[in-house]
Amino acid sequence: MGATNHVTFEFPAIAQNVEFARVAVACFASQIDSFTVEEIDDIKLIVSEAVSNVVLHGYDNPGGPVRIRASIDGEVLTVTVEDSGRGIADVEQARRPAFTTSPDRMGMGFTIMEALSDTLDVWSRPGAGVRVTMTKAPRMAGSEEHGPRS
Ligand code: ATP
Ligand code: MG
Repeated sequence: MGATNHVTFEFPAIAQNVEFARVAVACFASQIDSFTVEEIDDIKLIVSEAVSNVVLHGYDNPGGPVRIRASIDGEVLTVTVEDSGRGIADVEQARRPAFTTSPDRMGMGFTIMEALSDTLDVWSRPGAGVRVTMTKAPRMAGSEEHGPRS
């Protein structure tokens, strides 16, 4: 059972830090004993998509700040990934599957984040940045069993 805990860290939005961020949050999230390996993988992918978005779209000049706050309340993990870059003019449009402003991308990042989290909130204001907040709790909350499920 996870006790109340939180961690905050900040790093430049460069590609090398995507792996760092996803592993760091996964490590923190694993304090919630009931998360399965698959759920921890989901958390890694969510963080990776959110941080990749900042690296790819967040700043006109690469390397602006990314701030991550992760917290555990009981067995609920909340992760916020925030930048202070160019922002998104129309968040509803940006969240639609296959919407992208980069022709070489799939436009699936937000769709993946939404599918793998319990709740996903996206706040943005043009010129002020983007804040993505997701929550996730173990599907088998309260269970501390790590063995394979039948
Ligand atoms: P994919 O994630 O499949 O590589 P993508 O990044 O374009 O492609 P999404 O992650 O769904 O797709 O994001 C949709 C759009 O939202 C992006 O194309 C971009 O215009 C905008 N966007 C997302 N995150 C940010 C951000 N942090 N700052 C500015 N714009 C963003
Ligand atoms: Mg993306």
